[in-house]
Amino acid sequence: MASVSVVKRAFRYRFYPTPGQEVELSRTFGCVRVVYNRALEARTAAWFGEQRRVNYVQTSALLTEWKKTDGLSFLNEVSSVPLQQSLRHLQTAFAAFWEKRSRYPPAGRWHVSILVETTVDHAPPVDRVVGVDAGITSLLTLSTGEKITNPRHERQDRERLARAQRALARKEKLSANRAKAQLRVARVHARIADRRRDLLHKLTTRLVQENQLVVIEDLAVRNMVRNRSLARAISDASWSQLRSMLEYKCDWYGRDLVVVDRWFPSSKTCSACGLLLDMLPLRVREWTCPGCGARHDRDVNAARNILAAGQAVTACRAGVRPTRRQSARHPVKPPSGEEAGTAGREPGGHSPLQGGEVVNAPGAPTSSPTPPHPPRSRPTRRTRPARG
Ligand SMILES: [Zn+2]
Repeated sequence: MASVSVVKRAFRYRFYPTPGQEVELSRTFGCVRVVYNRALEARTAAWFGEQRRVNYVQTSALLTEWKKTDGLSFLNEVSSVPLQQSLRHLQTAFAAFWEKRSRYPPAGRWHVSILVETTVDHAPPVDRVVGVDAGITSLLTLSTGEKITNPRHERQDRERLARAQRALARKEKLSANRAKAQLRVARVHARIADRRRDLLHKLTTRLVQENQLVVIEDLAVRNMVRNRSLARAISDASWSQLRSMLEYKCDWYGRDLVVVDRWFPSSKTCSACGLLLDMLPLRVREWTCPGCGARHDRDVNAARNILAAGQAVTACRAGVRPTRRQSARHPVKPPSGEEAGTAGREPGGHSPLQGGEVVNAPGAPTSSPTPPHPPRSRPTRRTRPARG
């Protein structure tokens, strides 16, 4: 059965205009900036002055007025489409601000991207399945036993960032050197984010291409927030990025993604016999099951349990189609073997909700569980433009 997903993809390009185009563009961008900042001023005056909300239609009416005034008649010389678009962007930014989803919109910052509706062929079905553990010593550990480590450059980049930030702190306020130091910090930041996104894209594409089912844990990475060095290694945003990439790529390629509940005791359950340990301190990297004698690597064992939980969810669904979003909300017993006992929240008092590690990806679904879905039998829903 040929299957495709219709998706929206955003492409971001570096663009090298001719001198003529450059003049035209800078004139257009100049006008867009004027319109955006004027509309922002009007909204700011209304909001902070009178707690009044200005909407898109009102700013659009303002634009019509501005075009008639002598000092702003140059706004008529460029296409009105980008001008209107900047007002729409501002409306979106304010809507997010009013709903407390983001901070007050800042003055002009511009990105150019092209949104294209396109189709993606589903990848041919494969038999392989994988569970992914959010590692401690590794970035990711797979149920296959493979460990994916943090790239070496990440540490170097962070050291570079720390140096740039220290240098910035030493500079006098409002000095030219301070501006340069700020620019340097921003560049290092951008480079770190670029490299991380690149790495996550490679990893997620590979996982989705190689496997029909990918099982991950819910964002809060169990018990990890207490560990400072780990918190650094994971770097907050990476996990939400990883998850959202897996979500849309699974949609694109016709794969299943199951997100298992964060209370599932994946580390302390023997993946061979299902025995649940009372505790397993973080420092214990390898252990032997007292029930069946199996020797476990902590993270690989966790990844195997995560996979088993995800498979249990898909098996349940094969019988009963859910109508709502669901996940392995309740702990799922690993297959086979003795009673796993009252598997539930892992004791030890570490709440995965502590600390500030859990960051929702912008635009990611806010309801926590990701609905798994059978391949090619379900309308694509979570398609959305890739963010660049
Ligand atoms: Zn065992």
